[in-house]
Parts: sequence; C-alpha cells; structure tokens
Amino acid sequence: MQFLANKVCVVTGAARGIGRQIALTLAEQGGSVVINYNASRDAADALGDELQQKGVQSLVVQANVSQMGDAKKLIDAAVEKFSKLDVLVNNAGITRDGLLAIMKPEDWQAVIDTNLSSVFYTTKFASKAMLRNKFGRIINISSVVGLMGNAGQANYAASKAGIIGFTKSVAREFAQRNITANVICPGFIDTDMTRQLNEAQVNAAQAQIPMKRFGSPLDVSNLVAYLASDLAGYVTGQTIAVDGGMSMA
Ligand code: NAP
Repeated sequence: MQFLANKVCVVTGAARGIGRQIALTLAEQGGSVVINYNASRDAADALGDELQQKGVQSLVVQANVSQMGDAKKLIDAAVEKFSKLDVLVNNAGITRDGLLAIMKPEDWQAVIDTNLSSVFYTTKFASKAMLRNKFGRIINISSVVGLMGNAGQANYAASKAGIIGFTKSVAREFAQRNITANVICPGFIDTDMTRQLNEAQVNAAQAQIPMKRFGSPLDVSNLVAYLASDLAGYVTGQTIAVDGGMSMA
C-alpha cells in the first residue's frame, strides 16, 4: 500500500542530501514530486530522470528559495503543472559557521534568508493552494541545533529555532482547515553538510549521540512520509527530532 497516492509534493533543495532522499521516499509512497534545486542542476535533472523511469510524475524547478520571487515561481510552477499542491517540504538549508565575535553580517543574513525567510515565502504561497484544496501538509526541516544551540552556529541556530516558532504559528492558523504543519529536527545525518567535519569533530559529535552513530537521509525521509500521509492527520504543531537520542531532555 502506498500512503501518498495522488499527492503532489514540493521538496526544496531536493537535488542532494536529505532532500533527495525525501523526494525518493515520497515518490515510493505514490506521490508526484516537484524537485527544486538552486545550483545542482545536473543532480536535479538526474533525479527527475530516475523518477520518470520509475513511472513517477515529476517536475524539476530551479529556484533560489531565499528570494521571494523565486519561491513564488516554484509554487506557481507546481500548481500550474499539477493543478494542486498537497505537501510542502521545506528542506533547503546552508551553514556559514563562525564564532560570534568574527561572524560577518553577510554570513548571518545569508543563513537567515536561505533557511528561514525561504520557509516564510514558500509556505505563504503554498498555503493559498492548500486552502483551495482543503488539504495540506507542511513539513519544515529544522535541526537539533535549533533546539540546543551550538557554538559557532549562532546564525544557523537562530534560523532553525525561528522555523519552530514559525511552524507552530502556521499550525495554529490552519488547524481548522485540514492543513497541518510540523517540524523535523535532524541530528547528525550523513550528507555533504556533515562530510565537511574533520575526524576530531566527527568523534566529538558521535560522543554526544546516545546511539553513537550518524543517521541516514532515509531516517529523516521516513518521518516526512508519515507526516505527509493521512496517518498523521491529527498531528500538528509538533517538533520531532531524528537524532539517535542526542537532544532528549
Ligand atoms: P546538503 O547536502 O548541504 O544540501 C543542501 C540542499 O539545500 C541542497 O540540495 C541545496 O541545493 C539546497 N539549497 C541550499 N540553498 C538553497 C537555495 N537558496 N534555494 C534552493 N535550494 C537551496 O544538506 P543536507 O544535509 O541534505 O541538509 C538538508 C536540510 O537538513 C538543511 O535544511 C539542513 O540544515 C538540515 N539538517 C541537516 C543535518 C545534517 O546533519 N546533514 C542536520 C540537521 C539539519 P543546490 O545544491 O541545488 O544549491
């Protein structure tokens, strides 16, 4: 049984890493997938081809979601192709790490624009289509860093904590309209983002994780698929960590 048959799903930053696996998992569950990318055109096209070969309807859309006009272009393209939008997964994200004393304002702004303002833009535009459709699932990818903070990531932590407050507000606004909004906080997941860490950093990270290992993109995408499905119709405004126990109180 597929849990997302006939559902139209937009995934931001879907060419690589966690976003790519989210696109694949939603497709396996019967969803049609709009693959957004910013710079990774070849990877996005390859994913689109892979889905097409599997008989999955997909659309590849270039959009820098930190820009409001591009975010609108993405949502408009999805609705134009599929005539509706059921699931929005805000996954696109960047890091520009640095200790606060030397953090450049442009690195603060780039992270806020890409990780947080993008979520405002896409959700704002997508919610119109969801209200028309009388159904919606908004799933925002934050981070355990948004819950716990992290030295050297004040910009990233602020953006990811902002996603949590934003999502709870959206969940309350749309609670009576059959639109849910939830947050997933991954811990350390094996992608390009964590492959930047050196051996000492990996060892220090693993020491903080009760399961003593990094997670996989599939660990995250499985929860996305659940939250996107009808099974999760009474789950809204929640923040759920996928982190091997790292952030538990
Ligand atoms: P990644 O491998 O570095 O991939 C980042 C993705 O975001 C890429 O697909 C990239 O697309 C996209 N992106 C960046 N800026 C964008 C923009 N302006 N517009 C559209 N897309 C943009 O990262 P990841 O590990 O898969 O992370 C995915 C999400 O999970 C992020 O929000 C990240 O903060 C979060 N997260 C990751 C971890 C982890 O351990 N990996 C932990 C917690 C949270 P292009 O390549 O096309 O530019």
